[in-house]
Amino acid sequence: MKKEDRKRLWRASRFTQYALSAPHAIVLGGTLIALLLVGLCATVLYQSRQDALDRARETSRNLGLIAERDIKRNFELYDLSLQAVIQGLQRPEVMAASPALRRGVLFDHAMTAQFLGSMLVLDADGNVVLDSAGDVPRQGNFADREYFTIHRDHPNVGLYVSDPYASRLRGSTPSIALTRRISRPDGSFAGIVVIAINLEYFHELFAGLKLGPHGSMSLIGKDGIMVMRQPFDVRIIGRDISQAATFRRFRIAPEGTFSETASIDGVRRLYYFKNLPDVPLIIMVAEAEQDIYAAWRTRALIIGSLTGALGLGFVLLSVLLGAQLRRRMRAESQLQMLARTDGLTGLNNRRTLGEILEQEWRRARRTRSTLSLLFVDIDRFKAYNDTYGHQAGDDALAAVARCISGTLRRPADTAARYGGEEFVVVLPDTSPDGAVQIAETIRTAISELAIEHAASEYGRVTASIGTASWVPEQEGDVSTVIRAADEALYSAKAAGRNKVAAS
Ligand code: GH3
Ligand code: MG
Ligand code: MG
Repeated sequence: MKKEDRKRLWRASRFTQYALSAPHAIVLGGTLIALLLVGLCATVLYQSRQDALDRARETSRNLGLIAERDIKRNFELYDLSLQAVIQGLQRPEVMAASPALRRGVLFDHAMTAQFLGSMLVLDADGNVVLDSAGDVPRQGNFADREYFTIHRDHPNVGLYVSDPYASRLRGSTPSIALTRRISRPDGSFAGIVVIAINLEYFHELFAGLKLGPHGSMSLIGKDGIMVMRQPFDVRIIGRDISQAATFRRFRIAPEGTFSETASIDGVRRLYYFKNLPDVPLIIMVAEAEQDIYAAWRTRALIIGSLTGALGLGFVLLSVLLGAQLRRRMRAESQLQMLARTDGLTGLNNRRTLGEILEQEWRRARRTRSTLSLLFVDIDRFKAYNDTYGHQAGDDALAAVARCISGTLRRPADTAARYGGEEFVVVLPDTSPDGAVQIAETIRTAISELAIEHAASEYGRVTASIGTASWVPEQEGDVSTVIRAADEALYSAKAAGRNKVAAS
């Protein structure tokens, strides 16, 4: 790469740096704002998703609580009925009364309760001895039922809640039994009193509670036997789920929530469970995550895609804006460059020369260094034009200009077209002798271009050069130096042209 080209490139690169940084900043800023927008949107959406989960957790808990209260209240009532029967059996006057009266006294409480199957008193062998349904007890022996054997074998069970079973007395109606032991005064086993509750009760209770299309609510025995489930499926009642991973988690704490994918249907659900405190039952409320997030998902999709599109549009817009600005700045810097250079030779023009001189003059004074100038004028150029034509004259001018800038070695040295076929070379920090040396190199180089010039005494294009320097001790300003160089040039011309003369 040529020296002058390098220098011009270096100067231009300062423009380019500036020209590139502003558009980049716009694109970068635009992208950053868009990212911020998307980030903000993502945070808000994430937050509202968490809110949906929290709300679902709260709802599950409330549903569980409603069911728990209802069950607890009813079971307390049933237990009171059981205890009333046991107390009644111990009163001789009750036992001595007519069967109808006795039935009325003993089972009074239980008669009014809804979903109550039947209430029976069984003797120590499991035979029905008293029946709430009639004065003549129905025939039946229930010594094989666990609710019977448990009281027979363990005196201190208290209130027992059985697993679901199909009732033998009531046409296989699915039921659970609440039982209490009847003990003789000596503590020995005298039988049990049993209340059968239709599972319909739990069915009705759960049916009124809303859980979303994929949710479920279950009542499970503490041994893992399903008592009721909503949505209702008769095949699930009585099923043993004690080996299921979810059930094991129900037994860890009295109450809690967790999310898990059900192995049966692959649906991920939020589980809430509560071990009822006085009854061996667990309430489980499971809401499907797809239901929990349904409303959120629609909203997130709309807001997310809108924000995404907005952010993308913003980035696109800033890219377009950046490109536009880059084009403009490039054009501007090109214009600036054109304004600084001479169109024919590519050298600095006279205006730029003025700036460079001013700058170098101040630097020379500040650093107390010598500033030298060369005034180059092509010999007999009018005659050249006359002989070869103006176009050939232009070509010769450009060739000489290239030759001059090609001989300059130091980055600080600059050449400019002063006007016509005259050039000025600025040589900062160069002694008068150094200036003469450079002038001589330029003169020789121009002559060695060997451009034919028949009207010249040398037969080729040559130039005369006048040199002048400003040394620190010297008075005067830059125009004095130019004048001196011009005068030296005149001497060189007078001395026969193709010469160098110092002032
Ligand atoms: P000398 O310097 O040796 O005394 O003779 P000269 O003929 O060069 O002198 P002068 O300064 O009088 O003439 C300069 C001529 O240069 C005038 C003009 O024809 C020619 N010239 C100036 N500018 C241009 C230009 O841009 N292109 C061309 N082709 N010729 C130019
Ligand atoms: Mg001239
Ligand atoms: Mg001339």
